[in-house]
Amino acid sequence: MITPDIIATGLGDVVLQPVHHATFMLSWGENSIVFDPVGGTARLAGLPRPDLVILTHEHPDHYDEATLLALAEQGPLDIIASPGTHALLPDALKTRATRLANGETVEKLGVVIDAVPAYNTTPERLQFHPRGLVNGYVLDFGGTRIYNASDTEVTPELAGMTDIAVALVPMNLPYTMTGPQAAEGVRQFRPRIVYPFHYLGGREDEVFAKALEGEAGIEVRLRDWYEGQ
Ligand SMILES: [Zn+2]
Repeated sequence: MITPDIIATGLGDVVLQPVHHATFMLSWGENSIVFDPVGGTARLAGLPRPDLVILTHEHPDHYDEATLLALAEQGPLDIIASPGTHALLPDALKTRATRLANGETVEKLGVVIDAVPAYNTTPERLQFHPRGLVNGYVLDFGGTRIYNASDTEVTPELAGMTDIAVALVPMNLPYTMTGPQAAEGVRQFRPRIVYPFHYLGGREDEVFAKALEGEAGIEVRLRDWYEGQ
């Protein structure tokens, strides 16, 4: 298991646990949220049972029906789903899911959750994530904002983010962006801490970190999101 980090927030300490690729968990007090769980519940072994699953979009590295059904078998499970994932959910899960589109907001577990646009902007890549397919999410933990950018390039919405304590930013071609491109986006919205993730197919995260070297006020946290897998 990748070593987790403690993030001090307005709701107390939040444990940020990288799991794999685009999957991570945020836990605090008795509460736990997992983003885009795929590949079976074994990957979450030893972690708190999630109360809430948040789904960004329906690509197979983000959405896995079998994993969701297995989590629901372990106990009460709330779900926030993008429109595309909501449509795919089997009825047993759909009844407990909140459908959230870009621009919509919901509050769960005392956290205000905004669904924000995530999409490709490079002409040759538009088909991978057309606007409206993917939800990025900003979670407000009592004034401390954690941003899962999900599968996106540098959009005006990403560049215009403000007051982000922690960001998770994707990279890998052709689906999202290069390390330097992601670094350029991060330099604009200036999260205090940033985790490059979703970098399957090489250590583009290291290229990203290099591009942000010496950038004051932005701490890059490299983690091996593919450890042991
Ligand atoms: Zn995707």
